[in-house]
Amino acid sequence: MRVGVFYHQDFAERGYITLRHRVKPAYDALCKQEYARRLKFFEPAISQLHHDLLNQTHTERHIETVKAEGFHEVALLSAAGVVSAAEMLATDQLDSAFCFVGTAGHHAGRNYSWGFCYYNDVAMAVLRLKQLGVNKILILDMDPHSGDGTRDLIALDPNIIHINFFADEDYSYQDKKLNNYGILLDNATDKVFLQALDEYLPKAAGVEFIIVIFGHDSHCEDYGDFYLTVNGYREFTRRMKSFSDTRPLLYVLSGGSQPQIAAQAIPAVIESLL
Ligand SMILES: [Zn+2]
Repeated sequence: MRVGVFYHQDFAERGYITLRHRVKPAYDALCKQEYARRLKFFEPAISQLHHDLLNQTHTERHIETVKAEGFHEVALLSAAGVVSAAEMLATDQLDSAFCFVGTAGHHAGRNYSWGFCYYNDVAMAVLRLKQLGVNKILILDMDPHSGDGTRDLIALDPNIIHINFFADEDYSYQDKKLNNYGILLDNATDKVFLQALDEYLPKAAGVEFIIVIFGHDSHCEDYGDFYLTVNGYREFTRRMKSFSDTRPLLYVLSGGSQPQIAAQAIPAVIESLL
């Protein structure tokens, strides 16, 4: 399998404070693994394309607010990595990819963001995928905080299936005609989570491209209200890989703050992608 890893040291040095301390320990732990030499590493860079996608995704007022808060560069760099990974997957240069980030994206809507999120990296990647002719996309969000920004930006698109597992507030649309599924799994264990995954994945059978929003704040020793384990992440990724089969599979890092959890969870997910 051709697995890409997208990483930039600015994520660790300039990312949002709650999220940044886990980035380098996870990356260093990954690089020490024997299988790391089979991975393809990429360093994201911001181009005009990323500015264009940003302007199409967020309002000028929101971008100005993010600039004033000092997270514009690192949030755009995070999104640039996700967009680049999506492009390489869509053009068959990779089979799967894992994107480190310095800020998260799923609580970023057109004119707002909260909860360590600034720019919606996944929404920008979806916009790019559409430009490349990829239309039917699954966004599976297993960060235990509900992806309201992603829902507001793209879950109205009938070609997007948004499967959103959460343990906080229900931000899903109640309109059953939409492909936006909010699944409350408060205090979920591996077993409960994997059962829900098996129940909802068939709804996305016909997609062309699979995006996973991966938050290790879902770990039993991190800050979210899921109680998953590293072995659970391995099994989850094994099932996602099996479901994806020959279709592109893109993991995007989301919440999680504990360096020692990140140093186990992220390499375990990436090894499972290989
Ligand atoms: Zn979260």
